[in-house]
Amino acid sequence: SNTTSTNFIKNIINEDIKNNKNDGRVHTRFPPEPNGYLHIGHAKSICLNFGIAQEYGGLCNLRFDDTNPSKENVEYVESIKSDVRWLGFDWDDRLYYASDYFERLYEYAVQLIKAGKAYVCDLSAEEIREYRGTLTEPGKESPYRNRSVEENLDLFERMRAGEFSDGSRVLRAKIDMASPNLNMRDPVLYRIQRAKHHRTGDKWCIYPMYDYAHPLSDSIEGVTHSICTCEFEDHRPLYDWVLDALGVYHPQQIEFARLNLSHTVMSKRKLRLLVEEGHVSGWDDPRMPTISGLRRRGYTPEAIRDFCERIGVAKAYSIVNIAMLEHCIREDLNARAPRVMAVLRPLKVIIDNYPEDRVEMLEAENNPENPAMGSRQVPFSRVLYIERDDFREDPPKKFFRLAPGREVRLKHAYIIKCERVVKDEKTGEVVELHCTYDPQTRSGMSTETRKVKGTLHWVSAAHAVPAEVRLYDHLFVKENPEEDDDFRKNLHPNSLEILDSCLVEPGLAEAAPGSRYQFLRQGYFCLDPDSADGKLVFNRIVSLKDTWAK
Ligand code: ATP
Ligand code: MG
Ligand code: MG
Repeated sequence: SNTTSTNFIKNIINEDIKNNKNDGRVHTRFPPEPNGYLHIGHAKSICLNFGIAQEYGGLCNLRFDDTNPSKENVEYVESIKSDVRWLGFDWDDRLYYASDYFERLYEYAVQLIKAGKAYVCDLSAEEIREYRGTLTEPGKESPYRNRSVEENLDLFERMRAGEFSDGSRVLRAKIDMASPNLNMRDPVLYRIQRAKHHRTGDKWCIYPMYDYAHPLSDSIEGVTHSICTCEFEDHRPLYDWVLDALGVYHPQQIEFARLNLSHTVMSKRKLRLLVEEGHVSGWDDPRMPTISGLRRRGYTPEAIRDFCERIGVAKAYSIVNIAMLEHCIREDLNARAPRVMAVLRPLKVIIDNYPEDRVEMLEAENNPENPAMGSRQVPFSRVLYIERDDFREDPPKKFFRLAPGREVRLKHAYIIKCERVVKDEKTGEVVELHCTYDPQTRSGMSTETRKVKGTLHWVSAAHAVPAEVRLYDHLFVKENPEEDDDFRKNLHPNSLEILDSCLVEPGLAEAAPGSRYQFLRQGYFCLDPDSADGKLVFNRIVSLKDTWAK
């Protein structure tokens, strides 16, 4: 691979390989906690860890960091596995759980106690916090800090045996209560918690803390580069301390900036609140920044991987505009989504000079960007629907669509002229247009010589298939919804608009959920799994207009 790269992590790895560190091995891991569904931020970490392993001919583990049983469950484990696979990555036989190491982690803790490097502390959680001090004030030593090794061994064993109540005692590392780094002021390694674990059941009532379990899990698995987000930079001294105190194999922790995306939130805790409070329909609501939400919306794994590549890897905090993610899906679908015609807000058009019983099948290209995608036949007949917005009774300047007395081309079909407007007597609303067509102007005909400015999409009334279309806007109105005390105040009040009387061309009747299309002139759409027999439901993935400033 490259010797220099804009990805600083690859530069570190290149240097390590040059120095034959770890015998030149490259071994990473993706370590999610199964306490929610993965989001696009996790995708960045997945692409980075699995991508590095691929690029260097190394390995990448999928490890569930399941040390907090009260928040974790099997549903999350399964969703995480399927999301990683869907993104296009494979852990082969390297699926691990931190809970597989509970026994070893316990033994390591006993070793720390024996070395005088850990002690059982009876302070309450609140007292521990008070004793910890602040950034400007040193901490105070716990009165239990100088218990004998024997007493600690006995108490720790009895903690495991379930003799003490939840929260009554913890095991702490004995490091330095005056350390300028608060994480080093005798951090908690184990807590007592009676909670059924999704894998180990009731076997344990003590559970290791993240800062203790994580470095040791990395070490046990022979991970060479333990890549995490910058919030853990301050925890690195503790990561190193745990491994050094035990004298075990020592992976290198490297931090990078987490992905923040505009107009959304990116923490599982906050996303769970949106689900639990019913602001969205579930973890896979197409407005959610979760992998499952993006998938349901119609995003492709290719677009998400492309996005992760483009945002790059750096240390500095930033917020990526969601327009960039939208740009990536547009680019991908522009190349491969078939074009079809769908009328979202129908207005009836009657072609008065077109024979009543005639149906013509017109040739329509599937994708002008990719001729190999071929063409299809679209039925044309006397009664059609066009988009209500494509007609104005009183057109403003530069309105090149249909208006009384004006001509437009119907895509793949003829030039038509609006002759008469029919309105509802009571409301004054336009209900249908009477038009004429020019038979010499059929697309592709040698006589098709006249040019008109506007080209409209349409469907044939007798052939079109009804559909519901769900239009999505950003989930939050503010670029950074978290800048206020309660991010929920910034929820977009109209992030979902449902159009329930849409009409799509007949070929879509047989579409399978997950199929993606470009609806001509409108955007990219994906058939939602809510579609049932006779009822098509489409999600708008993204509109055609690109707002990403390159
Ligand atoms: P959350 O706060 O959303 O729950 P987390 O970091 O607690 O995130 P984990 O399940 O522990 O979630 O994350 C697994 C991996 O994904 C970690 O290595 C973490 O650093 C990484 N990760 C999580 N969020 C992001 C993000 N926004 N950008 C990049 N990587 C992320
Ligand atoms: Mg975490
Ligand atoms: Mg978390």
